[in-house]
Amino acid sequence: MNDDAPRATSVALPALLEDAARRSAAYLRSLEQRPVRPDPDAVLRLARLDEPLPAGPSDPAGVLALLDELVSPATMATAGPRFFGFVIGGSLPAALAANWLATAWDQNACLAKVTPGVAQVEAVALRWLVEVLGLPPQTEGAFVTGATMANFTALAAARHVVLARTGWNVEADGLYGAPPITVVVGAEAHPTLLKSLGLLGLGRNRVVRVPTDRRGRMRADRLPPMAGPTIICVQAGNINTGEFDPFGEICPIARAAGAWVHVDGAFGLWARAAPQLAPLADGMELADSWATDAHKWLNVPYDSGLAFVREPGALPSAMAITADYLPVHQAERSPADFTPELSRRARGVEVWAALRSLGRSGLAEMFERNCRQARRFAALLGAAGYEILNDVVLNQVLVSFGSADTTQRVIDAIQADGTCWCGGTVWQGRAAMRISVCSWATTDSDVERSAAAMLRAARGVAARA
Ligand SMILES: *Cc1c(COP(=O)(O)O)cnc(C)c1O
Repeated sequence: MNDDAPRATSVALPALLEDAARRSAAYLRSLEQRPVRPDPDAVLRLARLDEPLPAGPSDPAGVLALLDELVSPATMATAGPRFFGFVIGGSLPAALAANWLATAWDQNACLAKVTPGVAQVEAVALRWLVEVLGLPPQTEGAFVTGATMANFTALAAARHVVLARTGWNVEADGLYGAPPITVVVGAEAHPTLLKSLGLLGLGRNRVVRVPTDRRGRMRADRLPPMAGPTIICVQAGNINTGEFDPFGEICPIARAAGAWVHVDGAFGLWARAAPQLAPLADGMELADSWATDAHKWLNVPYDSGLAFVREPGALPSAMAITADYLPVHQAERSPADFTPELSRRARGVEVWAALRSLGRSGLAEMFERNCRQARRFAALLGAAGYEILNDVVLNQVLVSFGSADTTQRVIDAIQADGTCWCGGTVWQGRAAMRISVCSWATTDSDVERSAAAMLRAARGVAARA
């Protein structure tokens, strides 16, 4: 054994972490000027990472330098202010810094007895979330990796409860021989919601699909007749149009039929935290469970999602484990009783930091600003003669630059130009570019600059046609 090795590491560690901080700050500063897309040459140089596993140890400072030099230029600037592709979002300063500190703590967030600090931070963050999202006060929650797992987790609680009402214990006895569950989804359900249903043994295709209207909202008048164990999955925030299903109409019908209502609100749920947007989600509080992402619009680092369930005890019924080596359940909240994972990182720390740093007014300002910026994009592109395909009710804009081929060529030109980045989609049979505004870092001048780049690209494509 080399007795010097650990000491040498402890001496070098502060310098290494300072180097990491310096490199991170330089990276984030560079996003103001560099193209949003990855540097194509840097992408080619990524091949250099594909080396044999080193035969022995090397200096950690050199490992970090290699990572920064090879990978930083090959990143997409999603942390910057002008990435409008998919629904991604950046990282709020407090959330990013809290992530670093929590990584240094390296706490396993599964047991309150073992890691009381992070368990308390997460419990407080959950209480704040239930308040700011206007969920019923007894609502319980779980920190998971994203909305896919949040849907899975909440729907596992739903599966437990609707079968327990028939006297069936699904955790103990599985689904074979169980009373069938009717699962109702909207025609516009996110594909990951269907994946969650598949993981739960409820089937991706064995769902009853309810048609949507031209804005992408589930039609309450087309709900099927419901009897027996039933779960209805509704949506807050359509990925194309940003629209909300009519919860106020659907929830009372579901209640009367004894059905469970689950809301996939990966980004739309946050409308509840902004007074100007909250009316979009009226009636959502009548549902039984909710899923959202924190890594999208709350702007915390990946990966972070949240599951909420109204009925106390339902989440632990689906998720808790017992084992001889684990402490028996205590009076305090034991985080692992609520999540699919046992061991996990304390991802609630960043959620707490985001909420603590913004407060109620800061949250509302961020969500409302992004929606105002989406409307500004629509106004600028519409004024230039391009067709906006959706009512811009939230932070999503769908724009057509003409034919499918022309729209695709404009998207390619915008991505290559690098001022900003947007992707394509198909909405009700029409090719469109999707602009999703969901970063804390986006300023009004970023919007003007990006819209100018979009119009430049569109005119360039038209001139070449
Ligand atoms: C993004 C999204 C999901 C999936 O979220 P992940 O965090 O990527 O797992 C589910 N539903 C909707 C509506 C989404 O926008």
